[in-house]
Amino acid sequence: MAAVCETFVPDANGTGTMERLDRMVAALSRADRKRLLQLLSLLDSAGFNFLLSGRFASLVDMSLVQREALLRGWAYSHVPLRRVAFQALKRLVHVAFYCWPTDGGTHVAWRAAGYPGPLAPPPAAVERLSTVEIARDTVLDCDVVVVGSGAGGGVVAGVLAASGRSVIVVEKGANPSSRELTQVEGDMLGALYLDGGLVMTASGSLPILAGSCLGGGTTINYTTSFRLPAATRAEWDGRSGLSLFSSARFSESLDRVCARLNVGTQWTTPGTRDAILERGCRALGWHVDAIPRNVTQCREGLECGYCGYGCRHGAKNSTARTYLADAVREGTRIVVECDVERVLHEGGKATGIFGRVRGPDGVSRTLSVRAKAVVVACGSLDTPPLLRRSGLANANIGRNLHLHPASAVVGVFPERVEPWSGALQTRYSDQFADQDSGYGVKFETAPMHFALAANGFGWEGARRHREDIANLAQLSMVGVLLRDRDAGRVVTSRAGRRILHYELSGHDVRHLRVGLRGAAQVLAAAGATEIISLHTPPVRVRPREPGWLERFTGAMDAQGYRKSRMSYISFHQMASASMGADPNRSVVDETGRTHELRGLYVADASVFPTSSGVNPMITIMAIADHVARGLAERW
Ligand SMILES: Cc1cc2nc3c(=O)[nH]c(=O)nc-3n(C[C@H](O)[C@H](O)[C@H](O)COP(=O)(O)OP(=O)(O)OC[C@H]3O[C@@H](n4cnc5c(N)ncnc54)[C@H](O)[C@@H]3O)c2cc1C
Repeated sequence: MAAVCETFVPDANGTGTMERLDRMVAALSRADRKRLLQLLSLLDSAGFNFLLSGRFASLVDMSLVQREALLRGWAYSHVPLRRVAFQALKRLVHVAFYCWPTDGGTHVAWRAAGYPGPLAPPPAAVERLSTVEIARDTVLDCDVVVVGSGAGGGVVAGVLAASGRSVIVVEKGANPSSRELTQVEGDMLGALYLDGGLVMTASGSLPILAGSCLGGGTTINYTTSFRLPAATRAEWDGRSGLSLFSSARFSESLDRVCARLNVGTQWTTPGTRDAILERGCRALGWHVDAIPRNVTQCREGLECGYCGYGCRHGAKNSTARTYLADAVREGTRIVVECDVERVLHEGGKATGIFGRVRGPDGVSRTLSVRAKAVVVACGSLDTPPLLRRSGLANANIGRNLHLHPASAVVGVFPERVEPWSGALQTRYSDQFADQDSGYGVKFETAPMHFALAANGFGWEGARRHREDIANLAQLSMVGVLLRDRDAGRVVTSRAGRRILHYELSGHDVRHLRVGLRGAAQVLAAAGATEIISLHTPPVRVRPREPGWLERFTGAMDAQGYRKSRMSYISFHQMASASMGADPNRSVVDETGRTHELRGLYVADASVFPTSSGVNPMITIMAIADHVARGLAERW
């Protein structure tokens, strides 16, 4: 591993990168650790390296130049497994190297890029929600227990508590105070993101980010607050055999959620990244508009670009700041750092949950909650395994997983962009959103700190990668967010853990390709001097040269778009326990109740019938509002 690490970042020596890698590897799942060890022993095998590269030596015994050539062979290989293995190593090493300060609160690469790193904390701390401490094995009673505190779970708790029900929320992640939001990327990925930000599909070709802390994704997300478009609402009704999504009742849920979250366009002054997106679209005569956001007093000049690691000003209206706070005022109890293992049931009816709480002393305690109803809202990756671990047999559980795969095109600009700064996201374009029956891509930007940049950039060798990263302040990106028509699935292993199967289909790749080409045009129209794809190796063109667009597209086509040929990331996971009228084709009915068990509901992104095409938070919350209101009305 040390030899691999040195090959990716020759400057890593003496920076503590190996120690951090050790910790990261120790935190991997047993299966991932085993795969990593197998990979390292292949690289250690002189015979295997001889077969692949003609050089009979273990990686450790090669010179730096030889090692780099060997890794490049893996990166560009025709064998998908080798490309995937390369990407996994690159990701681990780059997170370990770039995402913690190495000297006196700063870092040699941050200084080279003019990246300030973590900013000084604001003078006033934001009060955090109080939670219940579990000091011994415990049994609690309530009307409704909600598993997961994100977009879905938070709203369910708030609505049910307001209706007079006694509610307990059980959340796997922690509840850090605003003082603990240090903006050190490595630490914040570990504290706020699912599996430390290292979730991947089984094939390794698609990294996935999801929140795992009090407030779930709403604590770390980018505050983009779109309503589900009317055409998608109609499509969902057609597909699910329901009449919910086009109904006035659902519109009311959307209205209520947007009002509680203060959704609006009053805090949308674009940072440089978004100004570039807008400038490019306008120059081309393409669609561009302001993004509605769920924030309050999110004033310009705040450290908004860092809010993917939590907002230290209380300006982001996450569920922790809104619905969960309302619920706590009504007497709701919240337990954090409790991993729910299963839903308890008897005679075809849910009766509560069983979980394990990690205490501050590191000792694990059991928590049983007895309840009249259970609402599962663990997100689309973890809701299916919880249902399976609880003995549910519906074959649709885990099917139909959608991920909104996102990629980007990067532009080099003469001015300083500082893509880590400015409001999170304020402009979008739907120019290519409807390429075929409502499927296509959205353009948005995203704050680029080192974790996203170092992993997103393709790799030709250590020196070139370092130069690209050192240029970060001059880079801007147009993100291409794909509404995926075709699906993957969440499988639950025998040990009860999720395994995520997902590959881009040819149909979806065609939409993405149009998007990438369009994104390059936007950057060129906005004045980029060079345009770079996220392929490995990257495609680089200069838009001032004639024929650049055809060359760009042709070179991307030649490399391909699938199975680790280029970088993607998923911010939105959906539809893995869909809502529908027919129990043979769905997991929950129109009320959110599972077809299998009375008293067991699902209220998170997993109940979507398809991908939403728009950033999903508001849709999830509206569904949660509908599910919780129905439960309260029928109580
Ligand atoms: C970086 C980032 C930026 C994003 N930006 C936007 C945006 O701007 N706009 C938008 O609309 N969407 C955005 N999203 C997506 C959005 O935040 C999610 O789609 C949404 O939060 C999902 O809601 P959910 O209720 O399905 O799950 P989550 O919000 O993920 O909540 C699930 C919760 O359940 C907990 N949990 C899981 N398993 C268990 C268990 N066994 N026991 C107890 N608890 C458990 C998890 O820890 C988690 O906190 C973003 C996502 C990311 C990662």
